[in-house]
Amino acid sequence: MNIVILLGAPGSGKGTIASRISSENPQLKHVSSGDLLRGAVAKGTEAGKAAKEAMDAGQLVADELIATMIKDVIAETEGDVTMLLDGFPRNVKQAEILEAMGVPLRSVVLVDVPDAAIEDRIAGRRTCPECKAGYHVRALPPKVEGICDKCGAKLVVRKDDNPETVKDRLKVYHAQTEPLIEYYTKKGLLRRIDGDQGPVKNAEAFLAAM
Ligand code: AMP
Repeated sequence: MNIVILLGAPGSGKGTIASRISSENPQLKHVSSGDLLRGAVAKGTEAGKAAKEAMDAGQLVADELIATMIKDVIAETEGDVTMLLDGFPRNVKQAEILEAMGVPLRSVVLVDVPDAAIEDRIAGRRTCPECKAGYHVRALPPKVEGICDKCGAKLVVRKDDNPETVKDRLKVYHAQTEPLIEYYTKKGLLRRIDGDQGPVKNAEAFLAAM
């Protein structure tokens, strides 16, 4: 197994890219830290209870809490798989924890989208609570309004996708996650794609870069 990290602001399209390319290639496994955490919150596990407040406020949950979840997923992953890590690491401490897990890092791909485009993207974002597919009311609408193409569930707006919380999430990204760009550049692992080309071209650019 090896790992490709998707780096980028909330709403940059990391999840859309990872779910698109992994659905077409069984060797790619999409692991979203946000989905793991939302799953734990929905199930009411101890980890979910501990994470909920920070998530609702657009802040990061404790490093060890999310790192343990990622470690568990890595432990249960077998075979010749490239894991597309979406949303982890989110700060330098988490990057160090990941390194200590010992799985080879293939590359880190920054999905670059200007801040101005992010707020609009998140405002139009709709998510499937069942299969986690992502949509956008204009850029990537479902075939039937409000209904997931893949599993037929009713689409929802994520609780932390409201404009106030989005501002806080962007601040957290700039302050805590952006330092990872320099961190991975120094290690010679960083690649960059323009994340503003539409879903199909974004995915192609990602595959070519990773
Ligand atoms: P996301 O779906 O990646 O935007 O994540 C949603 C929320 O989950 C974030 O705003 C954080 O509260 C939390 N979260 C996701 N990944 C991490 C992480 N690696 N470290 C800390 N908190 C995280």
